[in-house]
Order: sequence, then structure tokens, then C-alpha cells
Amino acid sequence: MNPRETIRVLLVEDDAGDAHLVKMKLGQTQSGRFDVTWTQSLNEAQRCLAASPFDVLLLDLSLPDSEGLATVRSAREMAMDIPIVVLSGRGDTDFALTALEAGAVDYMVKGDFGYDGLARVIRYSLLRAEMEARNNLLIAALDAAANGVVITDKAAIIIWANSAFGRLTGYSPEEAVGNNPNQLTKSGMQDAAFYQDMWANLMAGQHWRGELINKRKDGSLYHEELSIAPVKNGAGEITHFIGIKEDVTERKELEEQLQKLASTDPLTGLFNRRVFLERLEQERAKVARLPHYVAVLLMLDLDFFKRINDNYGHATGDAVLKAFAEITLNNSRAIDVPARLGGEEFAILLAGADKNDAMAMAERLREQVAAIVIDHELGPVQITVSIGAATLLADDRDGDAVLHRADSALYEAKDRGRNQTYWSCF
Ligand SMILES: [Mg+2]
Repeated sequence: MNPRETIRVLLVEDDAGDAHLVKMKLGQTQSGRFDVTWTQSLNEAQRCLAASPFDVLLLDLSLPDSEGLATVRSAREMAMDIPIVVLSGRGDTDFALTALEAGAVDYMVKGDFGYDGLARVIRYSLLRAEMEARNNLLIAALDAAANGVVITDKAAIIIWANSAFGRLTGYSPEEAVGNNPNQLTKSGMQDAAFYQDMWANLMAGQHWRGELINKRKDGSLYHEELSIAPVKNGAGEITHFIGIKEDVTERKELEEQLQKLASTDPLTGLFNRRVFLERLEQERAKVARLPHYVAVLLMLDLDFFKRINDNYGHATGDAVLKAFAEITLNNSRAIDVPARLGGEEFAILLAGADKNDAMAMAERLREQVAAIVIDHELGPVQITVSIGAATLLADDRDGDAVLHRADSALYEAKDRGRNQTYWSCF
């Protein structure tokens, strides 16, 4: 509102004397120019509002065609967003206060306008209408935001939340108000120390940002990136907190997929050569460091695999590889490292396993592989596996040393007629 602009006033007052007084007061004031249009009934006022724009409505409640609070309510409907200032009779303060609830922004007692009172009340009502409009605009912007926005008081109790908060958490803004946001969506995936650290930061007046796993109203979990800012008053005291929440579940899942792609063989789902060599090196170092720690390496090769590809096609070859990988995974413990090193060449690193465990596992695997039957139009396809086994030794200089022993044992198993396990003599 520009203070130099003329303020367009619609005065609705059936008493000519009162109307004259208002016009006179607004004409005299030094604080701005007022252009007053006078009407004597609500009907007339409606015609005026339809015909030209006004900034403010001065409303007498007792009119020929309307009486009391009904006048405020009707005027509110007609005037849309234009602020209404009620002109009340002397000793009618209680009633004037009720008028505020019905939609007026302020009231003035007729005859008590003072030197500049009426002009000031009009100016305040315009300022307030402008602030309300701006407030509504900001709320609309926050509500349109894609991220969840939540405002709490200093005790971390929600006083406002936007629509995106509702979509993210499953709790409508109405349900959320009055609750603590962490309690509402706590999944138990973060420990007490996590929240203590968060609060220590916030109470020190600092921004906090982090990722957490939260729980929706329906019980499902999601990854959230949360940023919290404390809001301070003029004295520097924290009065509110503003939380911005983003659902990063898709990004997290993508990261996990990429991690998996980078570490596994796409056809069989077994670890790839790179991961296998890393883990072999770790196990070798552990065997060298810990006096009684043992580990075994199995090298596995599918017998006459090339013939399967040649005779039955690559699709059947792939089916055989997948069936073999499934048996390998089923026989491996979580700490083992079953890997496809390339083609029909596989390895399993048995962490913490001694010779007896390893032999039992290798034999079980060999028998199960021999039982694989893949259907094909040319007849059932079967496969066997040859296995070379070697223990990791404390004086192995690197992973290649044990790889070499297991490879020689595998060669020996092949040489001795395949479909068997051979244990390295070294
Ligand atoms: Mg009247």
C-alpha cells in the first residue's frame, strides 16, 4: 500500500449525520487522501461493489435492509477480500467484538473517531489485509512444494505441515498437528545417540542435516533426507523449528543396485572376479596374522561345458550356469565368497573353514551338480563339476600363491577323470 495513493472507501451508513461526520473526518486528515462513496443500504452497496473497485468498507450494522451480524456476514460475502471496518454505536463494544468473529477486521465507535483515529484504523486494516494476502501466498507456496515441510514449536510439537508431508508420511497435516514429528515416524532404525546428536546441534542453534529411515503411517519404511533449522526471535531465543523432508528411497535403492551391479556377475548373481580377489587378499592377510585362523579356496570348473553350448545353444548353456550358481549359493554360508571368475570357471572362498568342512562342502556340491537336469528338445542336459581345493597358508605372499595351488589341484581333478574333488598336496 502506497501511503500517497488515494484510498477508496465505500461507506454504508443510513444516518446522514453519521455519514457526514465520517466524510468530514476523512477529509480533514493529514495522513493520506480518502475518496469516500456513500451508500445507505446493503443493496446499494452491492451495486457499488459490482461497479467499481474499493479498498475498504465502512459498515454501519443497522441498515434499512439488514440488521446486526447478518449485515457483516452479507457484506463479507459481497466484499470478497476487501477489509470491513464496522461502525458501532456507543456502549456496543461486546457486540463489535462479535462482529470481528463474523469477518470484520476492526471496529470504530461512532463519534469517538478522535483527531486521526478513523484514518488510522483504515490504514491498519489495509495493512493487515495485505499481510494476510502475503501470508496466504506463502502458505500456498509451501503447500505446493514437493518436499515435506513441517513447523514445530520449541518443544518440537507440530503446529503446521504441508501437503507433501502428508504424502510422504501418510499422516494428514491435521493428524500431524500436536505431535512430535520424530515420534510420529520413528522406525527404530536410528539409535538414541542419533537423536541426541541431532538435538544437541539444534539446541546449540545450529542447522542439522542427515539421512534416516522413517516409518509411514501404514508401517512401511522409507529413506528420508531431513534438514532442520531452528528459528529464533529478536532476543536470539529459539521459538520454532522448521523441518524439510525429502523422500530419497528411490535414490537409495538405485545406489544399492549400482553397488550390486559393480560387485556381482549379472548372469549368475555370484560375486565377480574383482570382489573375489579383494576378499581373497583380506582372507590371506587374516590367515597370516591370526595363528589358528584357517580358510580354504575351491576352484571349480564345469566339465565339457563347451559341448553344451555347441550342442544345445547358449540359452541352455546359460541355464546350466544359473542352475550351478544356485546350488553354489545354497551351499555357501554368509561369510563365504562364491564367485564367477569367467566363462565356466568358478571359485568359492570358505572363510574360517578347515579341510574337513571344505571337503564335505565340496562333495555335497559336486553331487548336487551331478543331479542337475535341464530339459531340452534334444533330450535332458546334465553336467558335472571338477573341483580343486587348497588351504590358505600363513606364508602365502599373495592371493596368486593359493590360486595357483588350487588351479593345479583342479587340473589334477580333471586329469583323473573329472567329476571329482582333488586336494592340493601343498
Ligand atoms: Mg444505522
